[in-house]
Amino acid sequence: MKPTAIECTRCEVVADLPEDRDHSHLWDAGWRWIGTEGLFSCPECPPVVVVDEAGFHLRP
Ligand SMILES: [Zn+2]
Repeated sequence: MKPTAIECTRCEVVADLPEDRDHSHLWDAGWRWIGTEGLFSCPECPPVVVVDEAGFHLRP
């Protein structure tokens, strides 16, 4: 069974995942994640991923 929500690794805020699995609105809202490591950050917390000017995803 796939998860229906993501939870901030730091503060445990939860956001529901859309049924169509389109994560883009969560990303646009400020959520960041590294799925392979199970790390998630909500808009209020320091991001687990930083996107540089070239579009590369970096660990802060
Ligand atoms: Zn948080």
